[in-house]
Amino acid sequence: VDADNGAPTIFDKIINKEIPSSIVYEDEKVLAFRDVNPQAPVHILVIPKLRDGLTQLGKAEPKHVDILGQLLYAAKIVAEKEGILDGFRIVINNGPKACQSVYHLHLHVLGGRQMKWPPG
Ligand code: 5GP
Repeated sequence: VDADNGAPTIFDKIINKEIPSSIVYEDEKVLAFRDVNPQAPVHILVIPKLRDGLTQLGKAEPKHVDILGQLLYAAKIVAEKEGILDGFRIVINNGPKACQSVYHLHLHVLGGRQMKWPPG
């Protein structure tokens, strides 16, 4: 588990296609790819291609509002592509107490099974 120290993360290598990933959706600003350790039949990570200081949501500033909206909209496109619009969950783990392990903002899109609440 990395700390939020501003260092590059594994997601930079995924963005730069230096390591392979199963890409589900991509546009100019956003990349969505399957989580290597899926917690549901559908488990996709949606990330900004440019981290721009967004190691975690808690670092968001007014300049990030557009990309934050784009990430959420991309999550909807991904859910639609995966056929889970009838039930899916978006998760953002923020910081060590929330089990964040990669310090490059990412939305988890989870679905394809009955989700439980509260998540624990
Ligand atoms: P976090 O715990 O930070 O919210 O989520 C990080 C996620 O990234 C985890 O679910 C983990 O399985 C996923 N992950 C870590 N390394 C890789 C990788 O190299 N490839 C892919 N596709 N997912 C990764």
